[in-house]
Amino acid sequence: MIREKSSAEEEIRALLRENIRNIVPYSTARDDCKARMEVYLDANENPYPNGVNRYPSPHQPKLKSMLSVIKKIPAENIFVGNGSDEPIDLIFRMFCPPGKSSMVQIVPTYGMYSVAAAINDVRVIGAPLDDGFTLDADTVLSKVENDTRVIFLCSPNNPSGNLLDRNEIVRILDNFNGITVVDEAYIDFADSDSFVSMIGTYPRLIVLQTLSKAWGMAGLRIGLAITCRFTADVMSGIKYPYNVSILNQTRAEELLENPLSAFCKVREIKEERTRLASALSGLDRVAAVYPSDANFLLVKFTDKDQAFDGLFRAGIIVRDRSSACGCENCLRITVGTPEENDRVISVLSGKQYTGCTESKCAGEGRTASCFRKTGETAVSVKVDLDHFRKPEIATGLHFFDHMLEQIGFHGGISLDIACFGDLATDDHHSVEDVAIALGECLKEALGDKSGIGRYGFCLPMDEAEAFVLMDLGGRIDFRWDVPLHGAAVGDVSSQMFGHFFKSLSEHLDCNLHVRASGENDHHIIEGVFKAFARALGQAVRRIPSDNIIPSSKGWL
Ligand SMILES: *Cc1c(COP(=O)(O)O)cnc(C)c1O
Repeated sequence: MIREKSSAEEEIRALLRENIRNIVPYSTARDDCKARMEVYLDANENPYPNGVNRYPSPHQPKLKSMLSVIKKIPAENIFVGNGSDEPIDLIFRMFCPPGKSSMVQIVPTYGMYSVAAAINDVRVIGAPLDDGFTLDADTVLSKVENDTRVIFLCSPNNPSGNLLDRNEIVRILDNFNGITVVDEAYIDFADSDSFVSMIGTYPRLIVLQTLSKAWGMAGLRIGLAITCRFTADVMSGIKYPYNVSILNQTRAEELLENPLSAFCKVREIKEERTRLASALSGLDRVAAVYPSDANFLLVKFTDKDQAFDGLFRAGIIVRDRSSACGCENCLRITVGTPEENDRVISVLSGKQYTGCTESKCAGEGRTASCFRKTGETAVSVKVDLDHFRKPEIATGLHFFDHMLEQIGFHGGISLDIACFGDLATDDHHSVEDVAIALGECLKEALGDKSGIGRYGFCLPMDEAEAFVLMDLGGRIDFRWDVPLHGAAVGDVSSQMFGHFFKSLSEHLDCNLHVRASGENDHHIIEGVFKAFARALGQAVRRIPSDNIIPSSKGWL
C-alpha cells in the first residue's frame, strides 16, 4: 500500500475506520517473493503436483489484466472478490464502525446489503424510490444522518429491473461525502454506460460488477469492485489472502478468453426480454410488466399466488417478491432460453405457445466467427456482413479499439473483436494476430463471394486524405504509402498500421492499396481505417438482383 499520496488517497483514508487505516496487511509467501523461482519451499505446500497443490495467486494478476481489457480500465482499479458478496461485506468492514454507523439504501433493493449491514452491526435506513421505482436524489440525501457512512444504489435495480436516473446518481455523488456504492450487477443488459468511467472523477464511488449474470459464471463466485486505486488496495489488504481459488481463477480466465459468445448471449437475452414482456403484458391475469434493463422482469399479477402455483406445478420456479415495498402481487421472472420463455408464456396464458425463433447466436447467412490462440495472444472475431450492429471491440489498445470500431461503423457490418495479448512486451502480436483473425473471418463470411461489389473507396479526413483500393478477387497485392510523422499514434506503434493491413490482406486474400497523407497522424490513420471500412462495406455488399459472382471468370 505504499504509493505517493494523492488527494484521492487522503480523501478515502479519512473515511476509513481507524483500525483499518492502521492495519498491516497479512503478507503471503508469494507476496514476499515476486520473482519466478524453480523450487518453492516457502509456503508449506505439499510439493507433489495434482493441479491444486499450490496456493492460488492472492492478487489474480492474469484475471485482472483480462478484466482490464474488457472493462477498459487499469487493472489497479479492480478488486476481485468471492462474488459481489465479498466486496459488499468489505465495504462495511472498511468504512462503518460497528454499532456506531448507518447506511442508506434505496427501497426496494437487493437483500444482501441489509444482511451484510446487520452482520456488521450497521443500522439500515431505507429511502423509498418514487412511483415507477425512479430515484430522487433529494429523498436519499434527506435520509442521511450524521453517522451515515455509505449509500447503496443498485442500477439496474433488483428487483424492479430499471436503471436509475444517471443525473440523480451524480447528484448523490456530488452531495454526499461518504462512500457511494453503485451496484451494476445487471449493467451488461442495459443500453447505458457504466459508472466505471466516473471513478477517476469520484474517488468515493465504488462500482460493483459481477461475472455471475451476463458472463454466465455464477458458479465461480467472482465479483468485482471497481474504484480508485487506493480503495482497491485497501480492500486487497483486508480480504482473506487467497479469496479466489485456483480452479475459479483459471476457469474464469478460460471463459473470458472468448468473450464474444457471452456478448452474443446477452443480445439474445435482451431480445427475449422484449418478447417475454410483450407476451405477458397482453394477459388478463397480468396487471403490469415493469420496464426492465436487466435479465429479469418484475411482473404484477391480479393473483400472484395462482400464477406462482401454476408455474410451480409446471416445473417452473420464479421468485416471489411480493413482500418487497412497492412490489405487492409481484413475481420476479428471470429471462431464460427461448424455449423456457415459451413454457412460461404457455403456462400463464393457458395456451400452447411457441413464438420462439431459433438461436440468433448460431451463424447463418454471411457470418463467421473464429477463435485463434497462440502463446502470445488469444483473439476472437465475429462478423456479419449483412447486418449492422454497434461493434464490441476490446484489445487493450485504446487507439486500436477506436480504429477497429471504424471498420464496423463505416463498413456497415457487424464486427466484434476481443484480444488478450502480451501487451507488457509490446503491441506487435496483438495488432498482427487481430489482423490475421479478422482477415480469415472476413474471408470465411464472404463464402463463394456471389453478388459482391468487390472494389474501393477514398475520403478526406480534415486536412488528411486517404485512398483505399481493394479487390476481393482472391489475389494478394499489398501496397502501403502512408508516411507518418511520429513513432506512435495513441498507444499503437506507427509501424504496426502497415503491418496490420498487410497481415489482413494476406489472410483475406485481397489486393489492398493504401495511400494517405496529411499533417496529423491521428487524422491520417483514422482516415485510412474509415476509407478501408467504406471500401470493405462496398466490396462485401451484395448488389441487389445481381446474384452472380462479379468476375468474368465466374469464380473468385
Ligand atoms: C446477482 C446480484 C449480484 C451478484 O452477486 P454475486 O455474489 O457476484 O453472485 C450483485 N448485486 C445484485 C443486485 C444482484 O442481483
